[in-house]
Amino acid sequence: MPELPEVETLRQHLDGVARGFRVQKILVNKPRIVRPESVTAFKRLLGGQTIHHIDRRGKFLMVHLNGGSPFKPLIIHLGMSGRLFFRDRSDAFQDIPHLAVALEGDDRVLCYVDVRGFGRWTFDVSSLERMGPEPLDPDTFHPEYLQQICRDRSVKIKDLLMHQERVAGLGNIYVNEVLFLSRLHPMRPAGTIPKPGLVVLCQAIRKTLTEAVRLGTSSDLDFEGTGRGDGFFYFGRSGQADREVKERFRVYGREGQPCPACDTPILRMMISQRGTYYCPTCQTL
Ligand SMILES: [Zn+2]
Repeated sequence: MPELPEVETLRQHLDGVARGFRVQKILVNKPRIVRPESVTAFKRLLGGQTIHHIDRRGKFLMVHLNGGSPFKPLIIHLGMSGRLFFRDRSDAFQDIPHLAVALEGDDRVLCYVDVRGFGRWTFDVSSLERMGPEPLDPDTFHPEYLQQICRDRSVKIKDLLMHQERVAGLGNIYVNEVLFLSRLHPMRPAGTIPKPGLVVLCQAIRKTLTEAVRLGTSSDLDFEGTGRGDGFFYFGRSGQADREVKERFRVYGREGQPCPACDTPILRMMISQRGTYYCPTCQTL
């Protein structure tokens, strides 16, 4: 599932190529992707609008139209498997995308493919209203904020960090990495972490996400996913990119492999039905 770094990488890519284009035609082949609006209402809201710029909030893309306010932005969530990419108009419909937006005066079509169908396109902003602060915004996300949300809480720190109303954009992959860097056991009750530990946690979140965004935006990615299978950075490498395998993760997906800090084999357990990877030596309860 794409998390903040993958969505931010896609945002930067799309923002650079979609600005200023006017929506000419919309094709919806998988109606459940548009909700709660009806497809007719959705087409009426999006049709004829011009893409002003593309923003991000947590794991959501916000497509600002016609110069933004008072117009509502189009909100896109990729769900578990969504892919959003431009394709030449001549072959845009070779395999029918689940949603397609043709742009005026442009030879490309913005295509959306979502095999599992958990993604969503909507003008309803209610899912953004309760969202926690952006972890890369130092004005709203800092150790004092972490202290405030952890204080007296018995919730496991891993569950708390994955809760979008507490911190926007983190998911299972990056939370595993963040907790390893912070030397915190994933089951540690949030309220038992002292202030210095929260300072380290805050730094680990920023470092992990910043490094991942840097990797994503500097890699030659295949947003369309024709090269899917190598799974690199969710999107996969484009055909021309070098195939050198990068050891992206320190613990995620590395059960049984040596911890990069102490060589103890990485363990895997389930927390809230999600695979959780940690070093039992570096991350004690
Ligand atoms: Zn270790």
